[in-house]
Amino acid sequence: MIPIEPLPYPDRPHPRKHGPVGYSDAGSFKPWLRDEFEFRCVFCRLRETWSPHGSDSFSVEHLHPRVRAPERELDYENLLYACLRCKSHKLDQWPVMDPCRIAYGKHLRIRDDGTIEALTVSGRRMIRLLHLDDPEMNRFRGRLFRLIHHLWNDRENEAAIALYRELMGYPTNLPDLSALRPRENTRPEGLRQSHRARMARGELPDVY
Ligand SMILES: [Zn+2]
Repeated sequence: MIPIEPLPYPDRPHPRKHGPVGYSDAGSFKPWLRDEFEFRCVFCRLRETWSPHGSDSFSVEHLHPRVRAPERELDYENLLYACLRCKSHKLDQWPVMDPCRIAYGKHLRIRDDGTIEALTVSGRRMIRLLHLDDPEMNRFRGRLFRLIHHLWNDRENEAAIALYRELMGYPTNLPDLSALRPRENTRPEGLRQSHRARMARGELPDVY
């Protein structure tokens, strides 16, 4: 096992692997989006497993807001996965960088002390828009990094490595996407790449 960076912003745009079509409400896309975006908020990178309420603290987010683009309300390509905090700041603001077109890692970086740094003007705008440098969030990230760092350094200790795995592993309630029945799926090959299918094949790493 190698130490994993807890909150990296991706260095390339996210390639979508799923393509459900035909649900009549946005909430039905949630299991697909959890799997698509690896059980974390696309904006602040918070993981479900770090929230006491798990996936209940996360929701379907419309990149292009419903008030501005009602025709895209149920368009999977317009849907993201975000924590409720980021969602409450984003609201109907537009434009916002699409993580499937733009690598957030080229615009934002989280420092080892938990503070966030803008690498570009667009990154600065994202921080302002979503309050990503909120002092409470900076403290939370810093505390978490210190904890993860200590656990990793103490990895010969069974209890420490078990807790490291818990903090850096996948949630236990991986969605079974193959049991869902959208009207259509434009990327059916993605089902084989879902986390649950990979786990069944023994291909899912302990930590990510
Ligand atoms: Zn967030």
